[in-house]
Amino acid sequence: MGYSELIELSAKNCYFCPANIKTATPMFPSNLVPEGRIKVGETTVFPNLFPFAKYHAVATVSREHFLGIDEFTLKQIQDTVKASVKYFDCVRSKDQKAVYPIFSWNFLPPAGASVIHSHVQLTVDERPTNLAWLYLSACKRYYAKQKENYWMHLLEIEKAEGERFLGEIGGVSWITSYVPLGNDEICGVFHDVSSLYGLDDISISDLSKGLKRVFTAYTLYGVHSFNLSTFSASSEDESFRLIVRIIARPYPQSYYNNDAGYMERLHEEVIVESMPEKVASDLKEYFG
Ligand SMILES: [Zn+2]
Repeated sequence: MGYSELIELSAKNCYFCPANIKTATPMFPSNLVPEGRIKVGETTVFPNLFPFAKYHAVATVSREHFLGIDEFTLKQIQDTVKASVKYFDCVRSKDQKAVYPIFSWNFLPPAGASVIHSHVQLTVDERPTNLAWLYLSACKRYYAKQKENYWMHLLEIEKAEGERFLGEIGGVSWITSYVPLGNDEICGVFHDVSSLYGLDDISISDLSKGLKRVFTAYTLYGVHSFNLSTFSASSEDESFRLIVRIIARPYPQSYYNNDAGYMERLHEEVIVESMPEKVASDLKEYFG
């Protein structure tokens, strides 16, 4: 089956399309979200039927069934982030133990999405993920020893060296990762925010503008599928900064090579196809 056929077929009876979303998706209990679902612009947030965290919601990005990576408007991205932050704040006010929120986006099946209609995943759990725990605890140790924030120090070095520095958009700097977790990885680092909770409109707008640039840069780089995820502290934390990491995934076509082999799946080693310095020099112009 070709890619366009898959999009066409998946549009029939799609649960996330406006015609079905009210009847086909569940509602939150009223003590979590009084209105049952959160709505901001074209975005609707509802519970995930197959949760893998204590709190696990899905948020649609657009009313339209399919949009390509460069077709999302800034408003659609902004409203999606805004609705997600509202959900995280609802969880925080209900449950004092579940304090680790993650905003993630698997864009298209090569990135692990089982539904074509664009959506993000929102999880909140009592414990951070393995890598988030490693970052949070290492940053705490670094702060205690060096008396400075690791991410701010990293940005200072990356900006001065320039090899992996893409640019600054409002309160977020964009770099390619020194040690990428996937192909063409781009990383956004907030300057003065360490948690997804209570993210204000300016931070939401800065992040969304940066993501729009990433998506534009990616499409011109031949990338049409990605994984995106955040690393957030449980509350404002002087030793940490809110991070978003985006990696490219293979082109969505009927006969594609998956980019995860035995090294990635069984040895926890990542093989990447291009050096971060090359990615930064290729994509820099989109962040200037
Ligand atoms: Zn749909």
